[in-house]
Amino acid sequence: MTTARTRLLGLLGDPVAHSRSPAIHTAALGALGIDASYLAFEVAGADLGRAVAGLRAIGALGANVTVPHKVAVMAHLDAIEPAARAIGAVNTIVRDEARLVGLNTDAPGLVRALLDAGCEPRSANVLVLGAGGAARAAIVGLRDAGAAHVSVTARRPERAEELAGELGARPIDLAAVRAAEIDLLVQATSATMGEDAEAFAATLPIDALPAHATVMDLVYAPLETTVLRAARARGLRTVDGLGMLVWQAALALERWLALDDPLAPEIIDAMRRAALG
Ligand code: NDP
Repeated sequence: MTTARTRLLGLLGDPVAHSRSPAIHTAALGALGIDASYLAFEVAGADLGRAVAGLRAIGALGANVTVPHKVAVMAHLDAIEPAARAIGAVNTIVRDEARLVGLNTDAPGLVRALLDAGCEPRSANVLVLGAGGAARAAIVGLRDAGAAHVSVTARRPERAEELAGELGARPIDLAAVRAAEIDLLVQATSATMGEDAEAFAATLPIDALPAHATVMDLVYAPLETTVLRAARARGLRTVDGLGMLVWQAALALERWLALDDPLAPEIIDAMRRAALG
């Protein structure tokens, strides 16, 4: 039930119709007994500045930002936290008195999902596949979590070089990867969502990874991607994209509500169940 005191949280993106964020946050707010509503707003690029001004004017508690606005929204905010600045993308807006501050919970969300699965990224030798926004978040998150080396490979080598130079990673050709030395492989392209998912997985050196290696795929639809299936067939630890989706939401909620303590495991579980639909 909404009342005159109900606070607003929202998602700005285009499209937003298939987003799982409203279900995830509604489940968490319900479980916490917080009087707030989370709504998805489809916002065209030309309207983004006005949408942010609207959040400000109506006193919204905060918002998430998704494709295609994660970069463009930065120009409309009062401050950007350093990690989000390094990633070059904001997925969460939090109110700090009169100011709207941009942050990125994708990067720490990825690390929390790995830790949940029993994979410690500290001191790990990591290979990230991809050069888009998710790859950028992965590189910064893993670097900040103390990974020993982060290499990045992409189908357009110039994109991997650009990204690596900017974020302090090492660009590498897939053919030159020494798979036996990799502790953690993070699949951060959208290739495992597409028609060529099978062919894409076949290009990866999954068979040459060491037995202790972890393979993570950030894609969550489907949950078991071709890459994870290949890794599982080898008996490697696998981590799907659902954990990151849930944790980026949980970390955003902790900031909006300025919680002193982290969300309890049962709240995270409620969010996970809602994400699964
Ligand atoms: P972008 O569109 O920014 O980047 C996509 C990347 O994938 C690009 O580097 C692109 O290469 C590459 N790519 C696409 N198709 C192929 C292919 N067939 N072979 C090799 N590379 C390919 O998307 P994002 O980085 O934002 O997202 C990537 C994926 O991560 C998405 O599927 C998204 O759902 C998922 N994601 C999951 C999150 C979670 O919480 N679990 C959070 C954010 C993203 P090129 O530039 O050459 O086109």
